Amino acid sequence: MTPPFATMAPDDFEAGLAALDHAGTRRSRRVVQAIDGARLRVDGQWLLSFSSNDYLGLSQHPAAVEAAQRAAAQYGVGAGASPLVNGHSAAHEALERELADFVGLPRALYFGAGYLANVGVVPALVGRGDAVFSDALNHACLIDGARLARAAIHVYSHNDVALLDRLLGASTARRKLVLTDAVFSMDGDIAPVPQLLDLCERHDALLLIDDAHGFGVLGPQGRGTAAHFGVRSPRLIYMATLGKAAGVAGAFVAGPAAAVEWLLQRSRTYIFATAAPAMIIEALRANLRVIETQSWRREHLGLLNEQLRDGLAGLPWQLLPSSTAIQPIIVGGNQAVLEAAAALRAQGLWVPAIRPPTVPPGLARLRISLSAAHSQADVAQLVTALQAVAAA
Ligand SMILES: *Cc1c(COP(=O)(O)O)cnc(C)c1O
Repeated sequence: MTPPFATMAPDDFEAGLAALDHAGTRRSRRVVQAIDGARLRVDGQWLLSFSSNDYLGLSQHPAAVEAAQRAAAQYGVGAGASPLVNGHSAAHEALERELADFVGLPRALYFGAGYLANVGVVPALVGRGDAVFSDALNHACLIDGARLARAAIHVYSHNDVALLDRLLGASTARRKLVLTDAVFSMDGDIAPVPQLLDLCERHDALLLIDDAHGFGVLGPQGRGTAAHFGVRSPRLIYMATLGKAAGVAGAFVAGPAAAVEWLLQRSRTYIFATAAPAMIIEALRANLRVIETQSWRREHLGLLNEQLRDGLAGLPWQLLPSSTAIQPIIVGGNQAVLEAAAALRAQGLWVPAIRPPTVPPGLARLRISLSAAHSQADVAQLVTALQAVAAA
């Protein structure tokens, strides 16, 4: 084998896996055999799932399925090459225009995944001699993007605007880039985007927000967290993923036309990756219209959110203060959270146990995701089960 594996003996893998088992951090996958709204069949048993980021219940929307089928008939199932060779179809071109219009920014660029977007965009914006300022709870792909950029990395404590102000003020870097999740993926809280943008204006920095969990959910017609706050600025680079509320796959980055053109020229994960199949893109165009027109999905989600929070008010575990579809309950230890998840599963409920390194040690949690695909009866079932498990 070639390095780095040449330095790892076969026994090391076994020892490494045993260490994961011992720490309660080994991950495993469950095989999903069928999906029906918020219900998933696993090992022949239907489970009511609170684990999906399909917040609006659009992953099976008939309009999207039909659009994908039509596009497959027209374009085939593969794009054939990178967008800069021949992978950029009329479907891609139209989606980028529609996404830019939807979020109210001049231009948008579609990426195959959110992970690819951030890992490509950050190194295209900053490099050696520059500085990145990153919230301590940012998603892994923002962190990896910053590392790949080879810029100096300053991590500020979660949402600490005063500390960020001092760090930006003290920096002599040529270019400065602030990175933040717009809605934090494991906590569900919303970043103070107006204050962050204000700091960027005062300190001559750019702000990249990752709206993976706000796009489709927050703001008028689901236009996202920037629209939720009503902010706009030439310093804002907006990124959102399309595999969550949009129910399909991929991501996009939007901002000033010249900035987006620069990203097209310089993001290696855009340039050197095969374009997404047109059927994915047409499914997204169909769901984008649903997001824009069906406000009832967001309203229903808001009601479920209130129902859940009211129902869990007396729980011995801490429910984090979140107004989004992500509702985490801090259980603490890894084994304790695994046991809680197993007890819920025994009652036919799938709630993921999130452990380190995804969250800090000692803050393992049940991460409940609500979806417009849930009914009030579904949420009532979850509340009853959680109360029983917490009391056990
Ligand atoms: C899910 C997620 C991503 C990754 O997006 P994918 O399209 O799944 O690769 C990026 N950032 C945040 C905050 C996320 O939650």
